[in-house]
Amino acid sequence: MTIDRRTLIRTGAGLALFAGLPASAAVLARPLGGNPFMLGVAAGDPWPDGFVIWTRLAPRPLDEHGGMPQVAVPVAWEVAEDERFARVVRKGEALARPELGHSVHVEVSGLRPHRHYWYRFSVAGSDVSPTGMARTAPAADAALDRLRIGVAGCQHWEAGFYDAWGALAREPDLDFVFHYGDYIYEGAGRPFGEHVVRQHVGDEIYSLDDYRRRYAQYKTDPHLQAAHQASAFVMSFDDHEIDNNWAGAYDQDGTPPEAFLLRRMAGYQAWYENMPVRRAQMPGMQGLTAYRRLDYGRLLRTHVLDTRSYRTDQSCKDIARAETCTPEAHASPDMLGHAQEAWLDEGLGNVRTWNLLAQQVIVMPLDVRAAGQDRPVFETDLWDGYRPAKARLVDSIRRQGLGNVVIATGDHHKHAAGIVPERDEAPDGPAVAVEFLATSISSGGNGHGDDGLAHMLANNPNLDLYTELRGYQLFDITPRSWTTDVKVMDEVEKPGGTIRTLVRYHVEPGRPQLHRVA
Ligand code: FE
Ligand code: CA
Repeated sequence: MTIDRRTLIRTGAGLALFAGLPASAAVLARPLGGNPFMLGVAAGDPWPDGFVIWTRLAPRPLDEHGGMPQVAVPVAWEVAEDERFARVVRKGEALARPELGHSVHVEVSGLRPHRHYWYRFSVAGSDVSPTGMARTAPAADAALDRLRIGVAGCQHWEAGFYDAWGALAREPDLDFVFHYGDYIYEGAGRPFGEHVVRQHVGDEIYSLDDYRRRYAQYKTDPHLQAAHQASAFVMSFDDHEIDNNWAGAYDQDGTPPEAFLLRRMAGYQAWYENMPVRRAQMPGMQGLTAYRRLDYGRLLRTHVLDTRSYRTDQSCKDIARAETCTPEAHASPDMLGHAQEAWLDEGLGNVRTWNLLAQQVIVMPLDVRAAGQDRPVFETDLWDGYRPAKARLVDSIRRQGLGNVVIATGDHHKHAAGIVPERDEAPDGPAVAVEFLATSISSGGNGHGDDGLAHMLANNPNLDLYTELRGYQLFDITPRSWTTDVKVMDEVEKPGGTIRTLVRYHVEPGRPQLHRVA
């Protein structure tokens, strides 16, 4: 027996389901044909009175439509003050619509500030989801002692296992995890071999269903699910959610923008469907707005940036070779676009102890020349390729006299720590901000640590660390200090790798300098 939407409406079963009446239970149990919560649950974007809770129904994640019937399915949700759901404080029902890949986004509100809550979903006559935990943000005027943030991203499925996500799931007291993007990678499944330890299903992804299935494959990973269950995430995206090194309306292959923008729309929609983000981040025909601010009392203002959607195209056709693209030629004009740039300038300030720029690509100058090469080489895809835009960002920080800006970055698959100088030409001159580049969860495979990278520190005096190992970073933030723990995995190409702290940094508010403390 299959039930279509018309039948549901005609029989009134749809209404009954929506109200969660027990009579409806048997109706949908059959078409779902399995546990619909195979992709787990997630929470995101904490505000003082709530957060988003998310799930997406897919009883057979890799099948057409995730194994779902193409009807809207009511999903009950509840939020409790305790893990056993003895004290449920909010509950309701949401529709998982086929238009949105049977995803569910509930913006829970009316909760108390800065406390933990537990949430779960259920479908009538079917299973109950795993339980997730999230913590609300503190009240806007709260004087907060301490805040703890995880920073991670770049999780190429084929390059490694997700034990780093498992380790992050066990880190205590996280307020949220900032994800700097590359949640999925768009490429085709590759043969097993060097740095391919498990395979993508399917060819390179272009259509909405392709992107949905790729997210579904990644989300079946139990370590990733555990990380989402353990704390709220603040999501962004980088290039691989759509295509390598895309910039605004341009991909790297010279595809006509009007064709690429359709692919981008599919990628945006699948990103929204699979991420615990608010309705304000839902795409429409004109694109989406992913940049936004999150405040944590008087301690921290986080500015989540979108460094992809509004860029001008890379300089030098995105080729960073010294002979073809001199430092002066790295002059693509816009990284954030006019509206986001004005929004950031206006929102930066000294109202809170710290400003965190939660973004994707490296801001500080980074000479990536190979060992023994005599001319500097800069990447065109990083802020280095967008020097006029970088100069305006630096000017915004300087003009406002800010000494409290910390930048979180991903994309580059290295752990690095350094300062952003006032002038790119004087990398060891006065600094305007501190930047922590977090490596990757799996992308690049095990990596080689510092082997063959000593020249990077010699050629970049603004850097204190540059190493190729997998892992994540932890920010412990107080009114007096910012502490960053650089966490590394011993192994990601086999399951069972373990995490350790490689180095710890302190930063003081008002002084954009790094102090290595362990
Ligand atoms: Fe990446
Ligand atoms: Ca990237």
